[in-house]
Amino acid sequence: MNRRTKIIASIGPASDDEATLKDMIEAGMDVARINLSHGTLEDGLERYRRIRSVVATTEANVAILADLPGPKIRLGLFEEKRHLDTGAEFFLTPGDGPCTKDTFTVDYDSLLGDVLVGDRLIVGDGSVVFQVTDSLPDKLKIKVQYGGSVMGKPGLHIPSERLKLDTPTNEDLRLLDAFVTAGIDMVALSFVRSAHDVRRVGTEPAPRGPLVVAKIETKAAVENLDGIILASGAVMVARGDLGAELSLHELPHLQKDIIARCIALGRPAITATQMLESMITAPAPTRAEASDVANAVFDGTSAVMLSAETAVGNDPANVVSTMAAIAKRADEEFDYEGWAHHIKRDRLIEPQSVDSAVTDVMTMATWRAAMEMGVKAILCISRSGFTVRAIARFRPKAPILGFSPEERTVRQLSMSWGATAIKIDRIESNDESVRNVLNIAKDEGHVRSGDIVAVLGGSSATIGATDTLRMVRCP
Ligand code: PEP
Repeated sequence: MNRRTKIIASIGPASDDEATLKDMIEAGMDVARINLSHGTLEDGLERYRRIRSVVATTEANVAILADLPGPKIRLGLFEEKRHLDTGAEFFLTPGDGPCTKDTFTVDYDSLLGDVLVGDRLIVGDGSVVFQVTDSLPDKLKIKVQYGGSVMGKPGLHIPSERLKLDTPTNEDLRLLDAFVTAGIDMVALSFVRSAHDVRRVGTEPAPRGPLVVAKIETKAAVENLDGIILASGAVMVARGDLGAELSLHELPHLQKDIIARCIALGRPAITATQMLESMITAPAPTRAEASDVANAVFDGTSAVMLSAETAVGNDPANVVSTMAAIAKRADEEFDYEGWAHHIKRDRLIEPQSVDSAVTDVMTMATWRAAMEMGVKAILCISRSGFTVRAIARFRPKAPILGFSPEERTVRQLSMSWGATAIKIDRIESNDESVRNVLNIAKDEGHVRSGDIVAVLGGSSATIGATDTLRMVRCP
């Protein structure tokens, strides 16, 4: 069985060069992520152009995801690595300058008004924790609750209900505009709190615009989950900030819930952060990390994500191939039938959309026919990729081939569980399209003459809904 779970890898200084990018693509990277929290817009665009040009030299279908920083708050610069001892006391003050011996700057103007005595503030992904002990006219007094090392400009997690900042920020919208003009495939939105935040992105619906990925990393997002999923193209369980916002012992259960809701609504779900963290420096993961990746697959995740491991780690291609091997092995053990039965029961369709209701029942019928007939592949003709994502909900054992005339749909499907996306010239009448995709599937070696396959599509080139299923023997 080919790997069904997709891999997103963040690109940074350790993976910028062409040879490393090529090795990562060969190792199984499906989506390259550009984290816009670091560097300038020009750096991000240059990275984008470099990835595109390297992908063009390969046969691989690799999409690019631009991750917007959102209202990300950072401490000022620590010029050298510094250890902050548990129990030590410092001051926080709003500002952009470097941190001094006693006082740390924070790039948030409303710090003094919004943060209250008693709040816990988390540095990075939890390396250091501060408790606010006093509020003075021009600064906050803090005590280090858990000590650790800091360097550079670490992120500072302030409980999201305290923040007065909107998502997307004006800076997000500026970055978004530039990346949409450049032709970005997917954008991730940080610190989403409601469906309204997602709608404020305001891009054209996919595939004319990018697939919008809502990062679930605030308490409010967990409370408004279904609305956010419905307003988004995909969802990310952003465990770094989510783990700072809520108790860590809630995180594994939230991960399961978010993924299950997301797949029930036909959106890809990404599991992110610290998946193979020790491989930033080590050549192999810890046992717990290997299990974490496999368990995310068992939770039903569509994609697993690498952050610092590939952006600044020692051996990005080795991390990708390690993740690919763990995910592929977990795919083999996945409970396909159990999953489909639970989706059949819990699936949700878009309210007030007849097309989506038709796609819902047709993809369910396809999953059932594919299982009962033991088909070699499910061929899915889809302009926007919606039908491919809808059939992927059921996690059919047969490979899913998604055929689309839209280049961006083909790339956006690189994040969809189990889907191999193939570009076709156009969608014709159903008869011609079926003939065409069968020929392509055969020529590319996915199926052979005599194989039984399911072909799912629209009855005509102009119809929006996926209303036709054919069970055919390959000529
Ligand atoms: C996260 O918080 O887990 C995450 C993926 O977001 P970022 O890397 O932007 O902190």
